Amino acid sequence: MSHTQNRSTRLIHGTSQPCEQTGALAPPLVQTSTFVFRDWQEGARRFAGEEEGYVYTRLGNPTVSQLEEKVADLEGAEAAVAFASGMGAVSGALMGLLGHGDHLLCSRGIYGCTHGLLGWMKEKMNVCTTFVDRPSRERLEKAVRPETKVLYLETPVNPTLEIIDLNEVCLWAKERGIKVVVDNTFATPILQRPLEWGADLVLHSATKYIGGHGDVIGGVLCGSSQLIGPIRDQLRKDVGAVLSPFDAWLLLRGIRTLAVRMERHVANAEKIARLLLAHPAVKKVDYPGLPNHPQYRLAQRQMDLPGGMVSFQVCGGLEGARLFLDRLKMCLLTVSLGDVATLVQHPASMTHAIVPEEERSAMGITDDLIRLSVGIEDISDIWTDLEQALHPLSEQVGECGKEEFSCKKSS
Ligand SMILES: *Cc1c(COP(=O)(O)O)cnc(C)c1O
Repeated sequence: MSHTQNRSTRLIHGTSQPCEQTGALAPPLVQTSTFVFRDWQEGARRFAGEEEGYVYTRLGNPTVSQLEEKVADLEGAEAAVAFASGMGAVSGALMGLLGHGDHLLCSRGIYGCTHGLLGWMKEKMNVCTTFVDRPSRERLEKAVRPETKVLYLETPVNPTLEIIDLNEVCLWAKERGIKVVVDNTFATPILQRPLEWGADLVLHSATKYIGGHGDVIGGVLCGSSQLIGPIRDQLRKDVGAVLSPFDAWLLLRGIRTLAVRMERHVANAEKIARLLLAHPAVKKVDYPGLPNHPQYRLAQRQMDLPGGMVSFQVCGGLEGARLFLDRLKMCLLTVSLGDVATLVQHPASMTHAIVPEEERSAMGITDDLIRLSVGIEDISDIWTDLEQALHPLSEQVGECGKEEFSCKKSS
């Protein structure tokens, strides 16, 4: 693999070469549970780790390895390990780094099931978590303990799309010997590479942008060989949350177009964010690519492009949000994200419904907030659908109190 090639080229060539035996262009799908040894010595040597080679698919599989190499290359990591889901990667990272009685610092607003796993780890492993709002050097300093081992982050934050300064918090963690784990699902390695800012592990729900076509559940965790080795060779092997070869093959198929998909997701999201901002029935728009976003400059520094997710508040409160969602004709009402199709969800009654209302509003998740995963359809068709669904809300604009954006820019 040549690092003189750019990322979008390496997605297509890079780690995947035509099959040596057959010349097949597409990566071979090695759909097998186990691997046959030539003789007892070969089997013994592989078990002893004295010889490279596959043994049993739960321990490793060539199709899965190809995906791991590809994602590691994109993230600039030495190694990667794939899991049966994004949550497999989250639990691999947390269980790999944390032991009984350790303490964890975590950005507020993380993925719901990650939140659930942390609750489980507290109960079963006495691993306590302190949630920190918009982590910065000072805020982390206030929450750190002698037994703090890990700082766990998601940026952009779901669903409010705030940005955490990875350079600042990774420098702080390094001084203290704390490992930093970043869930990079929202940005993808095309737009943001946390290891370059000093993170130790970076993970993905490959179910989202990496797969991109809504047909597979998977996860990948990347980092140094030293950290990934034991997670792959012990934890994943013994816990067993392995990605199936076929799902790895689907992800290898999806990932080849990741760069072009991301370009289109972002181009569409930027336009939709501006159109929403100018719409009378929209109160507020959260998008890191809008100059009125509180961390606009940080987003420009840290991310190559501001991403394909847009959140916004509609007029009319909860009723307004419900009316809007039920009027959509093309955009799909569902909780995943990163699909080629535009997906829409209502955090207060869906992804964040289990979060107590008080905490929800502290996180900026109001009843009128809508989260949009902007797809790669023609922009005019996406906007036509959103606009017709917003239309009846425009009549309530009088009571809506639209925020003024003094720094609105036309570029
Ligand atoms: C979906 C998601 C996960 C969990 O991934 P699964 O593949 O559904 O297990 C973790 N983190 C983020 C940010 C996600 O969006």
